[in-house]
Amino acid sequence: MNAPLIIVGAGHAGGRAALTLREEGYTARLILIGDEPHLPYERPPLSKGVLQGSMDLAGCSLCDSARLAELGIEHIAGNPVSQLDPLQQRLQLADGQWLSYAGLLLATGGRARRLPQEQANVLYLRTHDEALALKSALQPGVKLVIVGGGFIGLEVAATARGMDCEVTVLEAGPRLAGRVLPPVISQALLDLHRLQGVDVRLNVALESIHGDAVQLVDGQVLPCDLVVVGIGMQPNIELAVAAGLEVGQGIRVDAHLRTSAPGIYAAGDVCEFRLGGEYQRQETWRNAEAQGRHAALNMLGREVPFEAIPGFWSDQYDWGLQTVGVITPHMISRVLPAGGLLLFYLDADARLQGACGWAPGNSVAKDIKLCERLITARTVLNPSSLADPELSLKQLLRS
Ligand code: FAD
Ligand code: NAP
Repeated sequence: MNAPLIIVGAGHAGGRAALTLREEGYTARLILIGDEPHLPYERPPLSKGVLQGSMDLAGCSLCDSARLAELGIEHIAGNPVSQLDPLQQRLQLADGQWLSYAGLLLATGGRARRLPQEQANVLYLRTHDEALALKSALQPGVKLVIVGGGFIGLEVAATARGMDCEVTVLEAGPRLAGRVLPPVISQALLDLHRLQGVDVRLNVALESIHGDAVQLVDGQVLPCDLVVVGIGMQPNIELAVAAGLEVGQGIRVDAHLRTSAPGIYAAGDVCEFRLGGEYQRQETWRNAEAQGRHAALNMLGREVPFEAIPGFWSDQYDWGLQTVGVITPHMISRVLPAGGLLLFYLDADARLQGACGWAPGNSVAKDIKLCERLITARTVLNPSSLADPELSLKQLLRS
């Protein structure tokens, strides 16, 4: 019997790849292996709806178990892959069994970066089970200190304020989400969180965490009941490293998402690929979705290069942030009539390369979609038209 296709990591990218393989006509044996006890699910609701209690695991899942069975996708849950043997084209599971594969996708994502000390009142947020643990700890009046002013920190802060917790955010850097967002948006986030009653502190160095307080290096002591740590993600590269695959900050792939080992592909948060000439990883829903799909197509021999436009969103309070494309030095800013900002990033020929919008509700989504169409159309744009809120992007697209 021919060996199956195997996907390691039953998260978003892995789940999407498995579904795509079936949608695209792959009928032979297909195995999806995960270390979590759940069906493949999307993580964005974990810091939003799941934490608020308006969404459950079924609502985040890519499909239900009946659909997996119907598609003949064998899902091995709660049994991580412990070893890869690329030469023999086989892998070992934690329970000791070996499985041979004809093709393999590594979609092992990442885990929350941890502080050196582990303590009962210090929580992290990467998985559904961690979201449930945090949800039950967030009660009205709870004093919550959040370490890290990135996306986990800010989304948890917004949700926790909605639950009447007292929230302090400690960010090591000079601004919020400083590695991925432009300064003007970091400032808008800071203003909104402070307006909502969050005590945001920048340039803060943490000394230690105790049962009932957090101590800063400058000697300040912040009393608290609970600490949430959101200081970044560590890609799960260990399997690939041990198997001798080429690894940088993630598992390195070529334009077709092929790793350095024959027949092995990588996708999602763990995948390091070239974007604009530089190797990088993308830690976004959109990338997991697109690469999961692309890897599946290429495992079927379609030879499709991965060229998707990057992007992500974040929801905080009743405001929405969305980005598309890449940031360049040439930025044009448009003040939106209903509040918020739209930033456009141009190349040297005044073609749109990227955009970032921040506005009430979901109102910026439409503009960002139009920006994506402007990027794809490679339209040469007039900077003063972009800055003019009276001129609709649809008009610019038509012209
Ligand atoms: P994952 O979803 O992490 O899946 C990888 C899976 O592989 C995991 O289940 C992991 O446990 C498993 N695994 C690892 N090693 C093994 C092994 N050896 N054997 C078997 N299984 C293994 N992005 C946005 O664009 N917008 C958002 O609003 C947003 N919100 C987010 C909120 C939260 C709380 C989090 C944590 C992330 C959010 N993201 C958001 C990012 C987005 O969810 C990730 O980019 C996406 O989940 C990456 O998918 P992935 O499949 O690569 O990794
Ligand atoms: P993150 O977005 O990388 O942000 C981590 C933040 O913590 C950074 O601002 C970092 O500052 C700061 N930091 C690092 N060490 C610190 C310390 N010791 N004390 C105080 N601050 C410290 O990571 P995250 O927020 O933990 O999110 C984890 C993952 O989930 C990421 O992949 C993220 O993309 C994903 N996620 C995405 C979304 C979204 O896209 N809407 C929402 C939630 C989660 P420096 O940069 O200066 O180091």
